[in-house]
Amino acid sequence: MAQHTYWGSFEEISKYNVSLNYAEKMWLAWYTYMQNDVLATGIMSFVMHEAVYFGRSLPWIIIDAIPWFRRYKIQQQKIPTAWEQWQCALLVLFSHFTVELPQIWFFHPMCQFFGLSTTVPFPSIYKMAFHIAVFFVLEDAWHYWTHRAMHWGPLYKNIHKIHHQYSAPFGLAAEYASPIEVMVLGLGTVGAPIAWCAITGDLHILTMYLWIVFRLFQAIDAHSGYEFPWSLHHFLPFWAGAEHHDVHHERFIGNYSSSFRWWDYFLDTEAGPEAAKRRRERKLAKLKKVQ
Ligand SMILES: [Zn+2]
Ligand SMILES: [Zn+2]
Repeated sequence: MAQHTYWGSFEEISKYNVSLNYAEKMWLAWYTYMQNDVLATGIMSFVMHEAVYFGRSLPWIIIDAIPWFRRYKIQQQKIPTAWEQWQCALLVLFSHFTVELPQIWFFHPMCQFFGLSTTVPFPSIYKMAFHIAVFFVLEDAWHYWTHRAMHWGPLYKNIHKIHHQYSAPFGLAAEYASPIEVMVLGLGTVGAPIAWCAITGDLHILTMYLWIVFRLFQAIDAHSGYEFPWSLHHFLPFWAGAEHHDVHHERFIGNYSSSFRWWDYFLDTEAGPEAAKRRRERKLAKLKKVQ
């Protein structure tokens, strides 16, 4: 009888699997309780995505409502109104339920097909950190090229324009985009781990979840519109952050990558007045050499 509730199956599992840690027991209890792996993975991933997306956006909504924080706002004149944020949240929520939810049911079969592990024990923290670092680098490359392509006239007009509705972005606007864009850019987030697993045969679905959580944090924070003295890119100069992506929304050209600055730096697509100045100086130096 005890297995009919989640905590009942948790107790049962705890009795026979003493070597597992608390999180691993919770994980196993969830799959045992659900009795349907596709549903178990589907519900878990959808709930996790919603909780992280809106949970991470909430602090930014509060910060937007507190005038003291204005000093750290990148585009100081453009504070999103409560109405704007509400409209954005509704549209994002609508697309989560209509576009993303149906796809999530393919998630578990796809993971199984490519050999992702869903069992316990979990991989070590070092292995997960290594995998997540690899995915950050791969996704950033995918994002740079697909996002840059989306700024090509016809693709911009028909797909990417929606995401650029807000020239001063805010956290909730991270996934405010056409369903086609969500799918194409999302392929970098989901496809990088899948490709990794197809090649190495070594990936746990928990690592995939944690990666998606970090990626959501990255995307929402990059759209926050705030630049602090303690922002990550001050300590990791190649980290993009809000300062990088805010200029993209303000100027529409340049700064195409998601997490890192290297692609824009090496391919000379950095946005903003400082980058333009550097470009001019380089051109002048070249002209002088020719003369
Ligand atoms: Zn763009
Ligand atoms: Zn954006």
